[in-house]
Amino acid sequence: MTQVLLDTAADRVMTGPLVDRHGRVATDLRVSLTDRCNLRCTYCMPAEGLEWMPDSHVLTDDEMIRLIAIAVEQLGVREVRFTGGEPLLRRGLERLIAETTALRTHDGVAPETSITTNGLGLAHRAAGLAAAGLSRVNVSLDTLDRERYATITRRDRLPAVLAGLEAADRAGLRPVKINTVLMRGVNDDEAVDLLRWSVDHGYHLRFIEQMPLGPRESWDRTQMVTAAEILASLRTGFDLTEHTVDERGAAPAQTWTVDGGGPDGTWDVGVVASVTGPFCGSCDRVRLTSDGRLRNCLFAHKETDLLELVRSGMDDATLAEAWRTAMWGKRRQHGIDTDGFVQPRRPMSAIGG
Ligand code: SAM
Ligand code: SF4
Repeated sequence: MTQVLLDTAADRVMTGPLVDRHGRVATDLRVSLTDRCNLRCTYCMPAEGLEWMPDSHVLTDDEMIRLIAIAVEQLGVREVRFTGGEPLLRRGLERLIAETTALRTHDGVAPETSITTNGLGLAHRAAGLAAAGLSRVNVSLDTLDRERYATITRRDRLPAVLAGLEAADRAGLRPVKINTVLMRGVNDDEAVDLLRWSVDHGYHLRFIEQMPLGPRESWDRTQMVTAAEILASLRTGFDLTEHTVDERGAAPAQTWTVDGGGPDGTWDVGVVASVTGPFCGSCDRVRLTSDGRLRNCLFAHKETDLLELVRSGMDDATLAEAWRTAMWGKRRQHGIDTDGFVQPRRPMSAIGG
């Protein structure tokens, strides 16, 4: 991560990158394309879904591209991840990807563009997404058991996800990463099987500690499967060697080489300890929601309304300055594991995970 040292508000950079008062620089933009989804994962959404945003409140493709262009060309963003809700449900996705990869940073580099998806529909979209310029995908998959999958996501769609993963790999959207949330008594006995299957297929598995961002009753700190437990479970089946901090960079996942890297040296696994080992000190992210709100943290309580500024005719320089101001106030830590923690009102599916 790029670090700049700033001691007082007077030092605040009025032009240039997205710096906050704690010296972090945001270069990784997560863009939520929709709050809607075709699954209902228990840790993310209630069975009946949520009250979806009306279309008129959602950024149009042109508005979204304008904001992404400001981020890349003026604010130092180097990576753009499309997420949601389910990003494959956004009709203009291929165009959004193509226009994003056509952008250049101030030093002439194309931003790396990826998506986080549940994989439904990826089987027939992967080649087109790659042709549009997508670099890689993260696919969410919590179990290899069809019945369990249907219980966790409330939809019987496991075969479609597996087909999507294969298509992504064939289309060269690599490294294909898998995001997994383990829940006690539901799928916490599958860590070893999931990793064995992932390395056999050349996928890179990342376990994510469950966070308090879904339905209120779905998170219980005392029941959460911790990173330490996940690791202990994995060590029953594999020899794990931890990567150094330099190898990890600003990435939230702590990563390990699996069984010496396997025959081609690529076997690895990651654990994102958002709750028990927060990585706020090296966080380089900023989030734009589908209704045009800027969030300087997944757990922020304040948002900056860029949609309103865009629709009231503000110029790019004003939008860029509003963006910098929003980032400056980023809190040092999210504090999930502290007594005073309050869950944000906006659920994960409407923020963009
Ligand atoms: N629908 C897409 C998907 O599932 O990949 C993208 C959006 S989803 C909100 C992004 C990621 O957030 C997924 O990997 C999902 O497993 C994860 N996620 C959702 N709710 C979570 C929670 N309460 N705690 C931890 N991760 C969560
Ligand atoms: Fe949909 Fe992703 Fe949330 Fe599951 S985790 S309900 S796929 S947004």
